[in-house]
Amino acid sequence: EHILTNLNQVGIKNHLVKRINMREQLVQLVDIIPIEFIVRNIATGSLTKRLGIEDGTVLDYPLIEYCLKNDELEDPLISKEHIIAFKWMDGSELDFVNKKIRRINDFLQGMFRGVGIKLVDFKLEFGRTEKNGKKDIILADEISPDTCRLWDVTTDKKMDKDRFRKNLGNLVEAYQEVAR
Ligand code: UDP
Repeated sequence: EHILTNLNQVGIKNHLVKRINMREQLVQLVDIIPIEFIVRNIATGSLTKRLGIEDGTVLDYPLIEYCLKNDELEDPLISKEHIIAFKWMDGSELDFVNKKIRRINDFLQGMFRGVGIKLVDFKLEFGRTEKNGKKDIILADEISPDTCRLWDVTTDKKMDKDRFRKNLGNLVEAYQEVAR
């Protein structure tokens, strides 16, 4: 809620309408684009395994990767050409989304850096909407320590879902620290 509200205030339209209570949000229904957009500022995880890059390498320029949302196929990595060829998006939609992604990354990196956290990588999803005949693409789904890698700026302590994935200690305490 905090992240999506802030993004909205800097002009990144997203699905959050309002908080209903501590556990529920009213969100705009979208036609979700079947692609996970992975944004990387520091190399780790599947990228380092796939390409033999040293873990923790700071990337000169943020990397955007595309994965097809398909659990049976384990969300395979795809290229821009696949996206166009199979009509998951057209070229102008892809340009539009890529520009949004870079703005979102700049904003989130600054926001996390301000509280002593490195935004290593994260996943975004977008969806199509139509209101009074006007079509749009907005940011959808959650942005949270479940969908980001967040490392402490001085110690590189992992404060995200990797704590659970790699059994690195109490997950809830780390998430609460991020929220604070
Ligand atoms: N991610 C996610 N949902 C997915 C896949 C990845 O939220 O289904 C996030 C993940 O938390 C990490 C980033 O995307 O912040 C990059 O993940 P990566 O491709 O390295 O996959 P992993 O090594 O985590 O399986």
